[in-house]
Amino acid sequence: MFLEQTRKNLPKKGWIEVIAGSMFSGKTEELIRRLKRAKIAKQQVEIFKPGIDQRYDETNIVSHDSNWIQSTPVPSSSNILLLGHEVDVIGIDEAQFFDDNLPAVCEQLANNGTRVIIAGLDMDYLGKPFGPMPHLLAVADYITKVHAICMHCGDLATHSHRTVEDDALVLLGEKESYIPLCRSCFVKQTKNNSVNSQHHA
Ligand code: ZN
Repeated sequence: MFLEQTRKNLPKKGWIEVIAGSMFSGKTEELIRRLKRAKIAKQQVEIFKPGIDQRYDETNIVSHDSNWIQSTPVPSSSNILLLGHEVDVIGIDEAQFFDDNLPAVCEQLANNGTRVIIAGLDMDYLGKPFGPMPHLLAVADYITKVHAICMHCGDLATHSHRTVEDDALVLLGEKESYIPLCRSCFVKQTKNNSVNSQHHA
């Protein structure tokens, strides 16, 4: 378990934490756990998510077990810089959907003394690094990789397999369209899919 520093340091020292993993891996739950502890420590906390993610609720971060926390949807990463200065802890959920400027924003906030906690999908449904996540993982001070359970074999899952045929990178109302799979089951499934689509062609 990640044990965080919650005491107020003077002068303020910032850093970047990244929580990465597949869908259903508990990223948001872990983000909420850390943010709640920061709140208990009487720190000023702000949470942001991309405006694109409106699966459940306009203003609350909602994790899959309905353990929620207030958040602000923003159109771009530059808004986080404007709204988040003078804050002790900034949480960012669904970071993979943000623009490529997010790593620079997070570094600037951390350099100015803010603790920045980022949760996001490390890979898209094809198993490729997702949006600004690879850059964020590179510049982070602390990384936590969380895992779901493979729906085919019960091992730890690292991949988000899309169960419907659609080439769009982002599917809205997407929760039902994915299952978590381990590497080996993901590779098997991807091979089956390409064989099937060749038959259809
Ligand atoms: Zn598996």
